[in-house]
Amino acid sequence: MRRIVLVAVLVLAAACGKPGTPPPKGPQPSALPTYRVNSADAVQGSPTLDAARGRGRLVVGAKEDQPYLGQKNPATGTYSGFDIEIAKMVAADLGFAPEQIQFRTIASANRETALQNGQVDYYVGTYTINDNRKKLVGFAGPYYIAGQGLLVRQQEQDIDGPQDLAGKKVCSAAGSTPYQRIQKDYPQATLVGYDTYSACVDNLITAQVDAVTTDDTILMGYAAKAPDELKLVGQPFSKEPYGIGTPRGDTALRAAINDALQNHEQNGDWKKAYDATLGLSGVPAPTPPPIDRY
Ligand code: GLU
Repeated sequence: MRRIVLVAVLVLAAACGKPGTPPPKGPQPSALPTYRVNSADAVQGSPTLDAARGRGRLVVGAKEDQPYLGQKNPATGTYSGFDIEIAKMVAADLGFAPEQIQFRTIASANRETALQNGQVDYYVGTYTINDNRKKLVGFAGPYYIAGQGLLVRQQEQDIDGPQDLAGKKVCSAAGSTPYQRIQKDYPQATLVGYDTYSACVDNLITAQVDAVTTDDTILMGYAAKAPDELKLVGQPFSKEPYGIGTPRGDTALRAAINDALQNHEQNGDWKKAYDATLGLSGVPAPTPPPIDRY
């Protein structure tokens, strides 16, 4: 009996760790909220939802290599993280249970085409709302505001912010807003583009590049996975309001997703989902930003 108690204490201590040190594991399923599923015909007038009901499942675009946000378990094929929870709470209000959602990984550079071609019904994956993208797709939200940051090797001394990037190799995902910002505002940096941030991080660890730049939310996840090797430096130097991408013409879908976000922000699901996912990186839940029904 005493041995069992001791083991339980040790497991608990390991799970808690030092204050500010994120636990090494991903979201714990027991801490995740469950969402009440609306009737199937709850939302009318959306061609995207009509098609989804016809095929019996919703196809949601996401990321699969962003810890705490959107991560695919290679053994089970299951996706988890804050963005995945946002996708599920919205789906519930649209009349789709979690088992009726098929997640599909889409890289940053391919999001607009995936939405335009009907490869996905909506997209939830650290997707910054901006005017250029609004010409191609619709956006519900924002549901969170991130900021661009820099990830470097633990022993790095020379890089404290974007002003120090001249002559340095900086990696980001092609087609992303952080990539575009370095290109435009810090042209002295040598910019390297990959499909994914995890490819950038591999290149940072093997010293092929000097820094990785993207949203602080994403970088915190990689730093937490390799705290002896990687660190974030400087202050966030942009605002990245995260939206849910929708097919541009489907205004009924966009309105329904905005209603769903508002509902789950008000009933506490948003905060519960944050605490069980992104909150594990040590940053307390902010107040969700106001929804922009443009
Ligand atoms: N939020 C930024 C963007 O949408 C960077 C993260 C990403 O590539 O998903 O471009």
